[in-house]
Amino acid sequence: MLEEYITLTIKKQKNIALIAHDNKKRELIEWCQKYKNILENHKLYGTGTTSRMITDNTGLKVKGFNSGPLGGDQQIGAKIVEGVIDFVVFFSDPLTAQPHDPDVKALLRIAQVYDIPIANNKSSADFIITSSLMNENYDHKVLNFQKSIKRRAKIL
Ligand code: PGA
Repeated sequence: MLEEYITLTIKKQKNIALIAHDNKKRELIEWCQKYKNILENHKLYGTGTTSRMITDNTGLKVKGFNSGPLGGDQQIGAKIVEGVIDFVVFFSDPLTAQPHDPDVKALLRIAQVYDIPIANNKSSADFIITSSLMNENYDHKVLNFQKSIKRRAKIL
């Protein structure tokens, strides 16, 4: 009998995605500089332009995906689903219309589904990056999709 929820662990070494919309890139770079001593202990990923700019300006190693408007946010969402990325810092711009707004919404949604910590502005990011949980394994429960697939395949 499959359980309704399964326990996943966000390990002590986090897999952090860093994303910033254009008007927020400078702010995210400054934030990365400020917390460089913490960030360098984790594995870093990011959308294409953001990751390049962080590496160029801070020296932090960041694995880059495609640029956001060209599918980078979706790639990061897929990595959350695969269990590769387990932490997101996304400085989104609330004052400018984005061509890839549906992708941004999809990323936020999938982070919610998988109960991934996600900061979408600087103060949230300040609070979570300084949390004592950054130095610990963290167990959390997510829906057991195997169970859901089994049930749906039977009743639909
Ligand atoms: P970028 O993408 O880092 O390639 O600019 C970020 C975004 O706009 O989602």
